Amino acid sequence: EDTVVEVPAACVAGGVVRIGGPEVVMMAGPCTVETEQQLMTTAAAVRKEGAVILRGGAFKPSTSPYGFRGLGEEGLKLLAKARDEFGMAIITEVMTPTDVAMVCEYADILQVGTRNMQNYMLLDEVGRTRKPVVLKRGMSSTFEEWLLAAEYILSQGNRNVILCERGIRTFEKTTRNTMDISAIPLIKRLSHLPIISDPSQGTGRRDIVGPMSLASIAAGTDALLIEVHPNPDEALKDGAQSITIDQFRQLMPQVHAVASAI
Ligand code: PEP
Repeated sequence: EDTVVEVPAACVAGGVVRIGGPEVVMMAGPCTVETEQQLMTTAAAVRKEGAVILRGGAFKPSTSPYGFRGLGEEGLKLLAKARDEFGMAIITEVMTPTDVAMVCEYADILQVGTRNMQNYMLLDEVGRTRKPVVLKRGMSSTFEEWLLAAEYILSQGNRNVILCERGIRTFEKTTRNTMDISAIPLIKRLSHLPIISDPSQGTGRRDIVGPMSLASIAAGTDALLIEVHPNPDEALKDGAQSITIDQFRQLMPQVHAVASAI
């Protein structure tokens, strides 16, 4: 039987969002929590358009050690404040086993990023919690490696695992990653777990986040995870792949149209 992961969210009727059910769930927000104003502006805008889960990185895996690495616990506190204000559930990344307990105090969904997909100590630790976990596909991982990474979490007793396609490394440089849309229907065949799609990390390009979101829905994604910023050109991290609030507003009716057509 397909797994449906339930996430508490005050903003929806019944107080629970179901990932893996009939609805395509919208998760959106900034790549990285930068300031209270940036987070609250984005949260208000994406909630107004129908997002029910707010994303935002507080602990950021930065390719360069000189890049912005997030606000840490201060960022988690801002996310919790946004949850209080808008009733959205919070998804944020956890990078080390020692941070899991602290991130659990603030987050509704723990995100394990592409770089940590095979960090087995981290997988064990999130597996010992009962929080929903989004496990991103390692950027060079096979489906078998990804599904075995998910087994680490499941085998510790946490059944609330959600897989996320976020692009893989190929020879192509036009995009930051090559988004593997085929992962969505294939994971549906290979696993009972929900599969969601991150077209922001998956492409690295704001101009194609919309089309790849729609393609993901057509392929059967259970949710979208989209980076939105009030002023992406000024973003401290990953502005090139963050869509504007206006772009998000224009995308939502298209999302509904494709979702209701399939
Ligand atoms: C993110 O979603 O903030 C992120 C860093 O994603 P990924 O692990 O897919 O690179």
